Amino acid sequence: MPVVLAHYPNPERPSWQHALARAIRDPQDLLDELELSHELLPAARRAAARFPLVVPRGFVARMRRGDPSDPLLRQVLPLDDELTELPGFSPDPVHDLKAEVAPGVLHKYPGRVLLITTGACGVHCRYCFRREFPYETSSTENSTWREATTYISGDPSIREVILSGGDPLSLSDRRLGLLFEALGSIPHVERIRIHTRQPIVLPERVDTGLIATLGQRPPSFALVVVIHANHAQEIDERVAIALGQLRQAGAMLLNQAVLLRGVNDTEEALVALSESLARVGVLPYYLNVLDRVRGSAHFEVDEARGLELMAALRARLPGYLVPRLVSDRPGNSSKTILSE
Ligand SMILES: *Cc1c(COP(=O)(O)O)cnc(C)c1O
Ligand code: SF4
Repeated sequence: MPVVLAHYPNPERPSWQHALARAIRDPQDLLDELELSHELLPAARRAAARFPLVVPRGFVARMRRGDPSDPLLRQVLPLDDELTELPGFSPDPVHDLKAEVAPGVLHKYPGRVLLITTGACGVHCRYCFRREFPYETSSTENSTWREATTYISGDPSIREVILSGGDPLSLSDRRLGLLFEALGSIPHVERIRIHTRQPIVLPERVDTGLIATLGQRPPSFALVVVIHANHAQEIDERVAIALGQLRQAGAMLLNQAVLLRGVNDTEEALVALSESLARVGVLPYYLNVLDRVRGSAHFEVDEARGLELMAALRARLPGYLVPRLVSDRPGNSSKTILSE
């Protein structure tokens, strides 16, 4: 009789799913891994009770040992600061739900719609503006996309569909393939844009299965992949390989970052981020000011400082490596550009 080891990887299951299953979810494991004091533990547990900790081991490996202010750690470590209630900070700061035209379909701006394809992410970013989003009711995760495709089919002005979430690359290749097929049957859709942090936090996700799925998209679709890196230290050799594969699959690669206090609010950090992105073939797109979601105030950088940093970037970098500083102001027909 063959011996079956309980922990033996299931060959049917892609290795990125194993990496995700092995992600750190217990604050104590994170502190131990980084050789940090357990003094931080009670607060981390309190804040994680509201928005759980999730961080893949490969991302933790890029953090400095013994440094509680490491810029990658700050993005994922739950803190007591998150429990402070402050005026102006709310559960839905950008009014996503007012733009919902069908379950999980947000139509805010002309020419493009955004699908909340899943609530699952490879990492939980503490500043995430959708950390309180009601994914159970407002997502297309368990749907056949009938309502989404009916809505998009009925509006020929929609040229682009943005897959968002959560992280759309948390979906299986099969599910993504079916979604491409459904969107491919709508003649006026020309571009598919994927907003994902997986190539950064879980580069294993970019595997042969995903590349094959992307390759099977309708030939008429332009593919844009917008990744999310906030700091140069997030981009290592493994990430570079994943991004190279996406580029080979014909994707245009852009990055959006969030301006975060204690993470990337210095001239040096932002220059290094743009230069690292250039090395791996990614253009900086947006530098978002913080969306004022409840629990994120300690990450906020004031707008004057943001403008000062942008002036410094323009003085040091070629124009194509300077992101646009933008703010998502409810009620507008596009993001508000604070500095080009
Ligand atoms: C930010 C956003 C978009 C995309 O805006 P671009 O300026 O095209 O990047 C689209 N839909 C929604 C709901 C958004 O929040
Ligand atoms: S990956 Fe994106 S959607 Fe997910 S927690 Fe981070 S910022 Fe939010």
